[in-house]
Amino acid sequence: MNQHFDTILKSGTVVNQDGEGVRDIGIAGGRIAAIGSLGQASAGEVIDCKGLHILPGVMDTQVHFREPGLTQKEDLETGSRSAVMGGVTAVFEMPNTSPLTVTEEAFTDKIKRGHHRMHCDFAFFIGGTRENVRDLPEFERAPGCAGVKVFIGSSTGALLVEDDESLRRIFQVIRRRAAFHAEDEYRLNERKPLRVEGDPRSHPVWRDETAALMATERLVNLARETGKRIHVLHISTKEEILYLRDHKDVASCEATPHHLTLVAPDCYERLGTLAQMNPPVREARHRDGIWHGIGQGIVDVLGSDHAPVSYTHPCAAYAGGEAEDLSGLAVGHDRRADAGAADARPRQCGAAVAPALRRSHQRRAGTAVQHRLQGPHRGGL
Ligand SMILES: [Zn+2]
Repeated sequence: MNQHFDTILKSGTVVNQDGEGVRDIGIAGGRIAAIGSLGQASAGEVIDCKGLHILPGVMDTQVHFREPGLTQKEDLETGSRSAVMGGVTAVFEMPNTSPLTVTEEAFTDKIKRGHHRMHCDFAFFIGGTRENVRDLPEFERAPGCAGVKVFIGSSTGALLVEDDESLRRIFQVIRRRAAFHAEDEYRLNERKPLRVEGDPRSHPVWRDETAALMATERLVNLARETGKRIHVLHISTKEEILYLRDHKDVASCEATPHHLTLVAPDCYERLGTLAQMNPPVREARHRDGIWHGIGQGIVDVLGSDHAPVSYTHPCAAYAGGEAEDLSGLAVGHDRRADAGAADARPRQCGAAVAPALRRSHQRRAGTAVQHRLQGPHRGGL
């Protein structure tokens, strides 16, 4: 009996758990009903996909969509619209909005804002703080919660939990894997005088690789001590990759496009403060080390860390970057410009990164990145 579909995507190169190959996809009732050779089937519409790749929807496990409170930069509607235009069908959104997502009220408000406005699936992180530690076990299991996110180095002041004693209290109560921004606050404070006013090249000198490694080591130790699991966000150093290789039983980790494609000092000379983010982009050996981590399966997930900021000229004076999470000069910006968001950065900023990622990707990792992206999110956030 001949099968009938609403739509057949014909002869596309399908990339999924079976690998990569030319296949047809039959769609019925808005769902994929068959994948294979559908030459005998009929359809209301046949779309010729020859020469095109078809990938499963991507989950972006780290985005900052700026709503509520900072919607002059982006909101849940425009951010998710740009996500789906880039092939991202689910996002995990971060808690450093205004007010911070650290209470039940703020969390419920975000869910309410997302329903019927966001174009993709979503979950929201809840920020772990000294004040809400007792409520975290309940928060982290709430429907729509991606898990607990903790900043242990100051990227966004009010969410900071820098000391082991307070962190231990959080570790003791949570059950799910929690996500961390890992830079050691004490070392950052100590090294602040190394910032050179007006020179973004000093950003990774101040926030050096040791600050990142120290924080990651402290988190792994706390995870072992308390029998919990961690997810280290936006790995920026080769040393962390080598260290985490031996701690995969308690720690998953994320790499971002900017740490995989940009290098210091070139990025600061070329892009000025547009390349400023936390943790910083560092020298080539770190970029290569993170690619090595992808190749070896040490990196569990790629996240964009999409985080729009208001445009300031690349030559704007370097001021230390404490005010906000300046991360995310990533593919996301380009997508967002596509979606027509009102205050999107000029396209060349994102566009400068996206082709570089494609080039590096082809050169270095074959399809490894895509395979990771399609897979279920193994970090278990
Ligand atoms: Zn982030």
